[in-house]
Parts: sequence; C-alpha cells; structure tokens
Amino acid sequence: MAVTDLNPRVLYDSHMHTTLCKHAKGEPEDYAAKAYERGLGGIIFTCHNPEPFGTADNVRMSVDQLDEYVELVYRARDAWADKLDVRLGLESDYMPGFETWLEELHQKADFEYILGSVHISYPRYKQAYHQGSPRDYQLLYFDHLAQAAETGLFDCLAHPDLIKQVFPAKWNPGKLIDDILPALDRIAATGIAMEVNTSGLIKAGREIHPNIEILSATNEREIPLVLGSDAHKPERVAADFEQALDLIEQAGYQQISLFGKRERTDFPLAAARRSLFTMV
Ligand SMILES: [Zn+2]
Ligand SMILES: [Zn+2]
Repeated sequence: MAVTDLNPRVLYDSHMHTTLCKHAKGEPEDYAAKAYERGLGGIIFTCHNPEPFGTADNVRMSVDQLDEYVELVYRARDAWADKLDVRLGLESDYMPGFETWLEELHQKADFEYILGSVHISYPRYKQAYHQGSPRDYQLLYFDHLAQAAETGLFDCLAHPDLIKQVFPAKWNPGKLIDDILPALDRIAATGIAMEVNTSGLIKAGREIHPNIEILSATNEREIPLVLGSDAHKPERVAADFEQALDLIEQAGYQQISLFGKRERTDFPLAAARRSLFTMV
C-alpha cells in the first residue's frame, strides 16, 4: 500500500499479538477491525517467537506452531485486503548466545518486520543476569539492547526501557541517563530503529516506553522510531497513540517510521496525526 497524500491512513500499529502466545485474546480480524476504526493504514502482528529450549512455551508459540501463526495472520490479511494492510512480523527475544537460533528462525517465513526484545521476564534471562544491584541490572539491560542491535538480526528494539518494570522505585532515568548514553551511541551506529510502546501505560510505572529522557537522547542520535501498542487484546490496538505522538514530538522528532519487507519508510508526524481518528 503506497503512502501518499491521497491515502490519509499512513499510521500503523507495529506491535500486537495473537492467541498463539497463550496470554493474548481475540482473533486477528478483530485487531484489524479496531485498527480500521482508529484510522490506521495497517497493522503488523509481532507475536512472541518460539524459543530454542521449549521451556517457556506457556507464554509463546512452540516451534511447530510457526506455520499456524503465519496462516492466522494471512487469514486476517486476506479478509481485510481491501481496507487495511496486515503484515506478518515477529517479536524475537534476544539474549547473548541466541544469535544462530534467531538467524535461522527469521528465515522460516516472510517476516516483514522483526522486533528485538530483551525480555527480563524470560526465565533464562532472569536466571543468568538478575544479580547485583538494581542499578547494575538496569545498565546491563541497556548493554544487552546494544548487543541485540549489533547482531543485525532485528529491525527495531521493542519497549526499550522495559527494565523500569523490575524495580520501579529504583528507576531514576534523570540520574541514569549519562550511563545509558554509551549504549544509545552503539545502537545509533547500527542504524536500527527503536519502538515507542504504549503498553507501559498499563504496567507498573504507568509510563510509555521509553521515557522522555531516553527519547530526547535517541532524537539527538537520529535513531528512528516505530510506534506500537503491544496489544494483547483487540481493544488495545492503537491505544494511547495520541499521547505517544505528543511525546515523540516533545522529544524533538518530526517523523516516525514503519517497516515493510524489512525495509524502513519514514513519514511526517503531522501525517500520522491526521491519520488517527480520535477515540469517542
Ligand atoms: Zn506478550
Ligand atoms: Zn509484545
């Protein structure tokens, strides 16, 4: 779908799930319906990837469900073909040592967009790295985000200050930002995008990921941004996107980005705003 002035629906929601992850609700067609109602031009499904050990299959699809996932997304894509652009993506968990597994996994379907996540709730991650002071753990998270970017396996880094959920009382971005900047420099050097994710508003801390300190720093480094709701139910598609666009603008950005066929397109924030129908 070409993004032109004739098509005011330029904004996409680039992060949402399916029931295959076992903690989301609703049919993909219902996510599409909500996106259409909100004025979006399209959506990208990015369900949680299968993981190599099968030990976390209670919160994600298993390896042998990958085809089922692709079929589910394509079913919605076909049903909505005339009205909304529905794309196949994946949210892939990164931790050091997963590179070969992910490289092969990402070739198993025609993914248009791969989100890289450092998921601190992933049991193996927690087991390996959750030690030391809260501050050490917070900084290690940003080091891992930079490592994820440097693998070249991902188009965008998901909810890039998710770590604030672990010790919300010990999260002080104003004090931490100087120590986060080296990781942001490494991320900027790779050309990867970062996600503005509105699901933080319904989690501990009640704040969009990432916060304004980080977004101002990513703007200075010209790191592109992609917008996603991380919807685990249809009602959350494009949730709080008005607030996210305000925050992006406040950080100094004038454009946001979208991926298709693993390629990035940028479009003006003003066009994104025009796309969005105000919630009633
Ligand atoms: Zn999830
Ligand atoms: Zn997600």
